[in-house]
Parts: sequence; structure tokens; C-alpha cells
Amino acid sequence: MKRILTGLKPTGDLTLGNYLGAIKQMVNMQDEYDSILFVADLHALTIYQDPIELNERIRKFIAMYIACGIDPEKNTIYIQSENEFIPAMSYLLECTTTYGEASRMIQFKEKSKQNANFSVGLLTYPVLMAADILYCDCDYVPVGIDQKQHVELARNIAERFNNRYGETFTLPEPLLSETGTKIYDLKNPTKKMSKSEENPTGVISMFDDLETIASKIKGATTDSLNQVHFDPENQPGISNLLNIASSIANVPIAELEENFKGKGYGEFKKYVSEVVVNHISEIQKRYEEIINSDMLEKVLNKGIERSRELAKEKYELMKIKMGTTRKDLKKQDN
Ligand code: ATP
Ligand code: MG
Repeated sequence: MKRILTGLKPTGDLTLGNYLGAIKQMVNMQDEYDSILFVADLHALTIYQDPIELNERIRKFIAMYIACGIDPEKNTIYIQSENEFIPAMSYLLECTTTYGEASRMIQFKEKSKQNANFSVGLLTYPVLMAADILYCDCDYVPVGIDQKQHVELARNIAERFNNRYGETFTLPEPLLSETGTKIYDLKNPTKKMSKSEENPTGVISMFDDLETIASKIKGATTDSLNQVHFDPENQPGISNLLNIASSIANVPIAELEENFKGKGYGEFKKYVSEVVVNHISEIQKRYEEIINSDMLEKVLNKGIERSRELAKEKYELMKIKMGTTRKDLKKQDN
């Protein structure tokens, strides 16, 4: 059985973009793949997080994953920081990564520009992400397009390690969904919807109350062309709404365009709003049941046990391959 893995960092409440770009893909694939899903709390720390808020979000993420349809029986679900082998592996991989490679990452370039006192962690986080991916030999990493470059870096690091020290890692591939790959901010539809965005008016949080979601969609930026047409270049706002509705309702974009031919943006937005509100409302109902149950403890205990087992084995193999072991490698048949 092929293996998939993905993680989301608790830097803010999960958004519709996270759901459509990453979580929904995992849900769609969980029957056919050995599926691993984690909360990337170590990644969140690259930018200062209020400890109490971060702590609360970690549990909210796990409950929200399950509410979104992630089946705990079919997935290994865990909190990244509970697996101490992953940062240890990350250091070994840092020594296999060039500074040039790490500093060329687009997210590093963008986020380091926003704050002159950026942390070293911001530079090395894609290597930690490589460790997240490589420890379990996963085949595919379902991500939004913004993370494609990081998965490719993981693949390059793995390839270099294998060439230098001998076969150690499976080479992973990013997996992008057809729609949902990139959901844009409703107010600023040329910018990705992000959970760490400070202005919430263009970001739909999975925790927003239903009226707020409806009013955010109503206030979404559109254009003056007055045609419901998919054209990201000239109509980024309308194209984004088409993408969202199509992903959630599982209706092809062309069919939506046809249904709204000759109709105004008001009517179209009302439809998008209904689709999104109904869907998120169901998810929120399940979330309330899960967060108030004792299920999370059990799910996390089971998940971390499996994750640690896999990571320990890979970490020890890496150390032997690199020569950092008490064993006398000349006497062994490695
Ligand atoms: P941050 O602003 O802190 O970077 P984020 O919303 O970008 O938060 P991440 O934790 O960085 O979320 O990413 C988690 C997953 O969600 C990744 O697979 C990423 O590709 C996907 N993702 C994030 N934003 C979007 C989006 N707007 N559309 C589609 N997928 C997205
Ligand atoms: Mg991000």
C-alpha cells in the first residue's frame, strides 16, 4: 500500500484554503493509502506564537481534522513535537542541505522580508519538513501549490543522501488536487488565503460563525465585467469563488458557468454562500461533538506510537549510514 503524509501548522485557525488544499485531499485518499496526518506545531514556532493560544490550537486542529472527515481508524494522527526523532533527523539532513538551497525557498524569501529579525528556524524549516516527509518513506505528499517547492527540496535532499550514503529514503512526490490547489483571499484575490493573515475579512476560517462566512462571501472582491466566467487573470475574484464552489459541491466549473450565464454576481454569491455555509455547518456540528469527547487522547496516543516507531528506525539507519554510531562499521555488514 502506498503511503501519503501531510501536516498543517497551527499558526492560526484552519481556513477553507487549508481544508480544500490539503485536508480534503487526504479524506479522498484515505481508503486507498496508508495515510499519515500531523499537526506541525514545531513549524509554527518559526514565527512567535502566544503559548496559550498555540496550545489550544493544537487540540482544535486534531478535532477539526476528524470533523472534516479524516477517519482515525484509517489515519495515523499525531502532534509533530511528540516525536523527538524528527528534529534529530532534521539536523542530520541539514548537513546534507546547502545554504543556497535553503535560502532560495520562496516562503523563506517572502517571510524573512516581512520581519528583519526572522529566526534561524525560518531558514531551516523546510529541512525539518523534509524530515517530516522522509522518516516514513511516504510516496506522496498532498499539499497546496505553495508547498510544492518544499516537497521538491525534500526529494532533492533525499536523493543526495541516497547518492552519498547509499539507499536510505523513498523519493516523495507532491500531490496537487485539480481544484482547491490554491484558494485566494476573498478581499485580495491575487493573494493566497492564509491562516496567519492579520486582516480576517478575506479569510474564511473553519471556525467562523455561519453569518460571518455569508457576509465575507457577500463582501468578496469581484470585477465590473459582470459575467460568471473562469478567468483567473482578468477575473481573479469570480474565478476564486468558482473554484471554491466547484470543490465543495463537486460540480465542474464549466457547469457552474453554464448555470449562471446571464445572471448577476449577487445571485452567484448567494449560491456560493449557501454551498459553503451548509458544508462548514455540518463540519462544525461534528467538531463540537469531537472536541468535547475523550476520543482525542486515544487517537493521539495510537498515532504517536506508530510515528515514533517508524522514525526511530529511520533515524538509527541514517546514523549508521553516516558513521555516527558506537558500532564498528568495518566489522559489520551494512
Ligand atoms: P501560514 O499563513 O501560517 O503559512 P497557511 O494557511 O499557509 O498558514 P500551512 O500550515 O502553511 O497553512 O499549510 C498547510 C497546508 O494547507 C499546505 O498543504 C498548504 O499547501 C495548504 N494551503 C495553505 N493555504 C492554502 C490555500 N490558500 N489554498 C490551498 N491550499 C492551501
Ligand atoms: Mg503556509
